[in-house]
Amino acid sequence: MRLILLGPPGAGKGTQAERLSKELRIPHISTGDMFREAVASGSPLGLQAKGFMDAGQLVPDDVTVGIVRERLSRSDCRKGFLLDGFPRTVPQAEALEEILADLSESLDAVISIEVPEDVIVRRLSQRRVCGDCGTIYHLETKPPAPNGKCNVCGGDIFQRADDSEETVRKRLEVYRLQTEPLIRYYEKKGLLRRVSGDSDIETVFEETFRVLERV
Ligand code: AMP
Repeated sequence: MRLILLGPPGAGKGTQAERLSKELRIPHISTGDMFREAVASGSPLGLQAKGFMDAGQLVPDDVTVGIVRERLSRSDCRKGFLLDGFPRTVPQAEALEEILADLSESLDAVISIEVPEDVIVRRLSQRRVCGDCGTIYHLETKPPAPNGKCNVCGGDIFQRADDSEETVRKRLEVYRLQTEPLIRYYEKKGLLRRVSGDSDIETVFEETFRVLERV
């Protein structure tokens, strides 16, 4: 299956994408993760992306499209893929169509995970991440061990620089202006499937899976 997960920051795309990609045996492609890895390794791509990310803005389309084109052309994507955090603008969606046309492929569905804005701000300011294995925590609903270490690998837990309340609000504004138009874009193409993201992880997963069974 060739899928896109769409939704505001904090909708739970990353968490759902990890499970879906295991269940469907397709690679999980997160542009946010790719940029964070590039920043951590200090590569030229990371240096380019860091300023935009820290400010809660989007990395320019040409840079983002370039890394996605390269990733989708790898052999593990021939049986399908799950895109998380891409596309985020209409030009990115148009570029994706071209990339897929070049590969003689097309999308099966776009899942829109929908969550009210106040829930998102609360979720993201409480989100913590393990710096070693990437496990995602929430201070209220899924707290790390009392010593502040990761329950899975014992690594240090931290808050993403872009999860501070001010940057979260900026990211939501960017989402409304630049990414939300994609909902209409994919609706017109008959690809959009809506899922409520305002419940626990398991419920959202089950609903998403049910929706995909009908694709
Ligand atoms: P995410 O983890 O998906 O919330 O992405 C974190 C940050 O990476 C975003 O706030 C952007 O700065 C950058 N980023 C991720 N995906 C994209 C994209 N498709 N286009 C532009 N910037 C992106």
